[in-house]
Amino acid sequence: MATIEKELQGRAVTTTMRAAVVHGFTEPLSIDVKPIPIPGHGEIVVHIETCGLCHTDIHAAHGDWPVKPNPPFTPGHEGVGIVTALGPGVTEVEVGDRVALPWLGYACGTCEYCVSGWETLCPNQQMMGYTMDGGMAEYARANAKYVVKVPFGIHPAEASPLTCAGVTTYKAVKVAGTRSSDLVAVFGIGGLGHLAVQYAAIAGGRVIAVDLSDEKLDLARSLGAEFTINASTQDVVAEIQKLGGADQAISTAVSPKAFEQAYGSLRRGGTLVFVGLPKDNYIQLPIFETVLQGITVVGSIVGTRLDLREVFELHAAGKTRVIFEERPLSDVNEAIADVDAGRIPARIVLRP
Ligand code: NAD
Ligand code: ZN
Ligand code: ZN
Repeated sequence: MATIEKELQGRAVTTTMRAAVVHGFTEPLSIDVKPIPIPGHGEIVVHIETCGLCHTDIHAAHGDWPVKPNPPFTPGHEGVGIVTALGPGVTEVEVGDRVALPWLGYACGTCEYCVSGWETLCPNQQMMGYTMDGGMAEYARANAKYVVKVPFGIHPAEASPLTCAGVTTYKAVKVAGTRSSDLVAVFGIGGLGHLAVQYAAIAGGRVIAVDLSDEKLDLARSLGAEFTINASTQDVVAEIQKLGGADQAISTAVSPKAFEQAYGSLRRGGTLVFVGLPKDNYIQLPIFETVLQGITVVGSIVGTRLDLREVFELHAAGKTRVIFEERPLSDVNEAIADVDAGRIPARIVLRP
């Protein structure tokens, strides 16, 4: 009893936390001691249990993209944890709820995109772990309207990868328009791709998985891919065309070459969905073939709060498997090196 009281008292006076911080695009992340955030109007503070390491966090830490974040910042947009404090005006969640803190950290709620179900395109949005401090910390501040409750029974370490990798590929399959018997090629079987395979199969597609490593292809097969192609040893385009060509190709690979191969693997009338965001930002596509073959090329960015609810619902119903490996937050730099080298099964989940 005395110990518990002591612990509680200890907690009450704790005002600092550890957080992974990017100080510069060419420096490793550091684990800093920072004040625990205080929630403002409409905001909450969440005690983070787990946060997945998305390849986007690596792009953020390296300043890979045309629009860069401003260091110092804390990455992480797969944070999951327990609400510990509410700011004024919060009605959406209560202290003690388990919530997920996705990439879309804030949207205005009133622009034409927000009111038409496309909040992910809101021009006034804030992004967790990019324009706002993210989930790679013991505590994170979030807008109560933009967190999503994690249903009872889903472990936080599984909820984390679903919060970006899951919702992003679930949405990409919706955008692709996959219907039963469609042939769907998924390029890149990493954090995103291993879930893309499953959502394409749930939508009724027959899935082709493409990656550079046989381990990842074996994983894809165990998750429902019917065909696998190793792009480092096989002619991807020829192999997929032998199968009749893909109705949809979803590229999550961090390589422009994969996007061009994905384009080449389509059948007439096919759809290519851009999801991956390689640092090298451009590919070459032919106009003539695109027109004459009626090809659609579409970009897909994360998913809405509703999409994430559906992702959690599917997982709670036992329809998806999340493949992950847990590591302490202090190992974030080693984790980044391992993702870059393709040395992990699908997702690394960090524990603050
Ligand atoms: P990841 O590193 O876990 O997976 C990438 C996979 O691509 C790996 O399995 C790798 O082996 C494979 N790959 C690399 N080159 C390839 C090639 N030439 N052909 C086939 N496979 C190849 O990364 P992730 O976390 O899944 O993220 C993937 C990309 O998606 C990143 O660029 C990330 O920023 C982006 N992303 C986009 C969105 C979005 O909303 N559009 C959301 C999250 C992540
Ligand atoms: Zn992500
Ligand atoms: Zn808006």
